[in-house]
Amino acid sequence: MSRVISTEEMIPVIAKLCMDSCYHLNDNVIKALESAYEKEVSPYGKDTLKLLLDNAALASKENIPVCHDTGMTVVMMKIGEQVSWVGMPLEEAVNEGVRKGYTEGYLRKSVYLDPLNRVNSGDNTPCVLHTEIVPGDKVKIVVLPKGGGSENMGAYTNLVPADGVEGVKEFVLKSVQAAGGKACPPIVVGVGIGGTMDKTTLIAKQALLRPIGVRNSNPFYKALEEELLEEINKLGIGPLGMGGRMTALDVHIEYYPCHITSLPVAVNLQCHSVRQASVEL
Ligand code: SF4
Repeated sequence: MSRVISTEEMIPVIAKLCMDSCYHLNDNVIKALESAYEKEVSPYGKDTLKLLLDNAALASKENIPVCHDTGMTVVMMKIGEQVSWVGMPLEEAVNEGVRKGYTEGYLRKSVYLDPLNRVNSGDNTPCVLHTEIVPGDKVKIVVLPKGGGSENMGAYTNLVPADGVEGVKEFVLKSVQAAGGKACPPIVVGVGIGGTMDKTTLIAKQALLRPIGVRNSNPFYKALEEELLEEINKLGIGPLGMGGRMTALDVHIEYYPCHITSLPVAVNLQCHSVRQASVEL
């Protein structure tokens, strides 16, 4: 039996997710920043983390953005295969929700309609929409505003299979080192391994959705996440690049089957403003 949902219903839902994600860091992120504050040994790093925590608390209390850069809006939807849509086209409705959220929520409009001719769309649309068809009759929506600072420092490479796990570790560490303070650490490091170029970068971004502190269920990748986190936090970049131990809050790896000749790796970084909001309908 199919479940009929009007796409127009999505508009206020998406608008609220845009505002909530930009105003309120969730408890999981606040706890991770508090734990980073406890562990940080550098006085500058510790002071910076205190400022970040105070800033997040004030933003949440006043319903104002945690950061002036309210990002390009990434919307990820898991749509149950029993859902039928009525009303305007789904992508139009999602963009209408983004438009409403960014306008009514006084969120910065950061989207150029043309990457070379650089004319601002004026309402932060279009978003980047990813849809996935899953079993069931539910719709899960995640809104992930992605700031330019951290998104710009993402990286992708095609290793050769012989490079193996050591090659992957070297690439991830080099990417984080190259990002330095520009990605606004402490960061969450999303790593995608395998797939094709499009899939690798997508799973690296999806890795950012996992709550901080939750490990990959595969013991091999769990151990790799832990090792990379330890190594990244020896780089000395520290909070906002001020020096210190807490460069990363976590490392999340997602993997996917790949071609016999391939070993693609993508790194997608998320700044300390780990903004996301989700709902299931
Ligand atoms: S990278 Fe994140 S914290 Fe830094 S300016 Fe951009 S959105 Fe803000």
